[in-house]
Amino acid sequence: MKIGLNLSFAVKRWLEPKFLSSMIRNDLKSRYIQFTWDLLNPWWPSRQRDKIAREWSQAFKKEGLVLTGTFGGLASYTYPQLMAPTAEQRKISLDFFKRAIDMSAVMESSSIGTPLGGMTHNDAYNEKKREEIYNIVLDLVRELATYAKKMGLEKIIIEPTPLFTEFPNNPKNSLKLMQDLNGTTDVPVRLLVDWGHAILEPFLKEQADMENWLNKCQPYIDCFHLQQTDGLLDRHWSFTHDGKLNIDSIRYVIEKYNLSDLIQYVEVIYPFEETDENVYDDIRKTMHMLQNSLGEGGY
Ligand code: FE
Ligand code: MN
Repeated sequence: MKIGLNLSFAVKRWLEPKFLSSMIRNDLKSRYIQFTWDLLNPWWPSRQRDKIAREWSQAFKKEGLVLTGTFGGLASYTYPQLMAPTAEQRKISLDFFKRAIDMSAVMESSSIGTPLGGMTHNDAYNEKKREEIYNIVLDLVRELATYAKKMGLEKIIIEPTPLFTEFPNNPKNSLKLMQDLNGTTDVPVRLLVDWGHAILEPFLKEQADMENWLNKCQPYIDCFHLQQTDGLLDRHWSFTHDGKLNIDSIRYVIEKYNLSDLIQYVEVIYPFEETDENVYDDIRKTMHMLQNSLGEGGY
């Protein structure tokens, strides 16, 4: 299977493009990388931002890394984005995502990906309001896809997240979102399924199984986030941790559903207070373990 790497592990630690690129190539031995907006904020003034964006993409290229996309990180996930309670805030979010598209185009990345946002409690628990926001979001995503096409991107990727105040958040409404958007957007809109979100039990209950997601949504799935988890909270642990996932269970699903062509981006989020030394060691162990047991996608 193809193992890629989301750069979330490097946030607040390794911020020089050349240093991080060489670390990924030589120590982590990962070829496919997904850049996180936590390393470069799309909101920053475009001229200075784009200069930094170019430094990143050129450093990746020099090391032979393949930048397959840029992706929303923790910072952008914190805000309500396209599901904010007012039209004014939703418009700001649309502008934010357009700026992320601009930044991605500068980096020669062919896609952006992100969760869509989160509702305020009072909207999420009001069925009429929920429906209204859903329809508004469909139109905002269509507008974003039009902009993505104009800027030369090939697709937009949506990551289902695990809260009731968010959507999509389960296999059924992920499929519905894909069907509602299908054929109505200027570039294709696809799903990234995060293993840790997909098997979160308190919310999904008996649906907390990757096979449920694949049975429903497989034709729309572009790629995955791979993280270890206990299924109780969204852990983003590395694979030196014990948890609900193990090599055999991952391999079983990959083989049963013929997923070997889709990239599994390892997305580990370490506590900020963890030492850089431990993180370096741990992400290296995790990548080598996955590459050695599940193969492909490395150097
Ligand atoms: Fe994720
Ligand atoms: Mn997650």
